[in-house]
Amino acid sequence: MQSPHTPLQFIKEPLFAERGVELWLKRDDLTHPHIQGNKWRKLRYNLVEARQEGLDTLLTFGGVYSNHIYATAAAGKQFGFKTIGIIRGEPADVPTDTIQFAAQNGMRILFMDREHYRQKDDPDNIESLHVQLGDFYMIPEGGTNIYALPGVIEMVNEIKEDYDYICVASGTGGTLAGVVSALYGKRKAIGFSSLKGTDTLTQSVTQLVQDYTERTFDNWHISFDYHFGGYARVKPELIDFIKDFKLRHLTQLEPVYTGKMMYGLYDMIEKGYFPRGSRIVAVHTGGLQGLSGYREYFG
Ligand SMILES: *Cc1c(COP(=O)(O)O)cnc(C)c1O
Repeated sequence: MQSPHTPLQFIKEPLFAERGVELWLKRDDLTHPHIQGNKWRKLRYNLVEARQEGLDTLLTFGGVYSNHIYATAAAGKQFGFKTIGIIRGEPADVPTDTIQFAAQNGMRILFMDREHYRQKDDPDNIESLHVQLGDFYMIPEGGTNIYALPGVIEMVNEIKEDYDYICVASGTGGTLAGVVSALYGKRKAIGFSSLKGTDTLTQSVTQLVQDYTERTFDNWHISFDYHFGGYARVKPELIDFIKDFKLRHLTQLEPVYTGKMMYGLYDMIEKGYFPRGSRIVAVHTGGLQGLSGYREYFG
């Protein structure tokens, strides 16, 4: 389980030159063809912990398009764990590509209706999963827990070049928490929420950072201005931006996370948010398998 070392891509744009800023994209989508980006970073030390606890089965949660379900299935297969995916909702007649891939990689797929799913983290529910399924190492939805942080910290520490800001897309906030812990008060971090504004996201990042570092920091914040209507929602200008970005920089983004972050960054740079001379790193957290849910836009 070696740590991948992903490259930085310079994003050349006349707008950035005009504003006097530099933008670099940390190509963490290149960690692995199937265990991409932050999902790989967050899984890594969870797998180590599972092994140390002597558990050979991973159980986790997600929706039918979940990048985390996909990555957990692939990682389980590659590193010799059995995997169980508890999937929100009812089975469809035709499974999504994500669920098909997970099943093909040996993941046992169990659906849980939405009402139960909302209480999935309750001790009673976990207990009944143990009665039903035996021993397992549980990874929360999205792969976010305390063991998610060291892998993200490794990602940040791979960046040897100097920079002032580091930006990530945020869902559960585990990745941002890892970034904030890695910075340890230096530089600035910005999370771009892919969900509508919620205090819970800011709170979970604060809590995770505190649990991991036993400290709090104020060199970070979350922008809630670029969620495009909420989780997995898109608008034509977002789709156009992603297509245009690919043509200009030969790099694919996706509309749930990285597309929204990059759109937001371009907008903030345009509006002069970043002082002249700023060097910005944006993390491409991967998730490209999720494009299969947007075929009508991306073919
Ligand atoms: C899951 C995911 C995120 C969100 O990460 P969190 O740690 O949940 O905030 C960001 N980008 C991509 C591509 C993802 O798959």
